[in-house]
Amino acid sequence: MDTKRTILVIEDEPHIALGLKDALEFEGFTVLEAATGKAGLAIAQKDRPDAVLLDLMLPDLNGYQVCEDLRRTNQVVPIIMLTAKSQEADKIRGLQAGADDYVTKPFSIGELVARIRAIFRRTHRPSEPPSFRLGEVTVNVGAQSIQRDGKRAEQLSFYEVELLRLLHERKGQAVGRDELLDKIWGLEANPSNRTIDNFVVKLRKKIEKSPDKPTHILTVYGFGYKLVD
Ligand code: CA
Repeated sequence: MDTKRTILVIEDEPHIALGLKDALEFEGFTVLEAATGKAGLAIAQKDRPDAVLLDLMLPDLNGYQVCEDLRRTNQVVPIIMLTAKSQEADKIRGLQAGADDYVTKPFSIGELVARIRAIFRRTHRPSEPPSFRLGEVTVNVGAQSIQRDGKRAEQLSFYEVELLRLLHERKGQAVGRDELLDKIWGLEANPSNRTIDNFVVKLRKKIEKSPDKPTHILTVYGFGYKLVD
């Protein structure tokens, strides 16, 4: 963890709030808690957290209202919405209300932490290009998609984009599996090295001309992977 960041959790279900608090503190964050929308808004005003995890179904205000209010008073704080709903319409409404990201319950803590870190990386590196080229493929980080020249864009999963983005950040250098696991999946998820290898196989199918003879995502034997143009 670079600096100790503060995350405000606005969640009325005590067991979820407690689970989030424990996990986020374990990951090195400082956690503030609120069980209602109004309490959350008050804490956000007063303590200026670095990010907000916001439940959609709260006893007083709903998450959309809280999100809009947060945006009125603090334009830039990253907001991740937590919800049991998985409908596309809810997701769009949440993003329209000003949320930066959206996680559907039940979610893994590892994925949530990875998303928080990804948002911090994005908000603290405004110069980072939103897209980059790999041979005949354009990787659009913000839209989580890739597009081969002359073809339709293809959606990538969160982890696929993060894996590509991290390798691209260190283009031409070997990046170890352990580091990739730690930075992308976090400590909680605890996947094996095989997880990364499986993701690389999937990504090669999407990016490489001949996935069996990759020219962009190269294996560094016994260590990890390297991205080249
Ligand atoms: Ca709730």
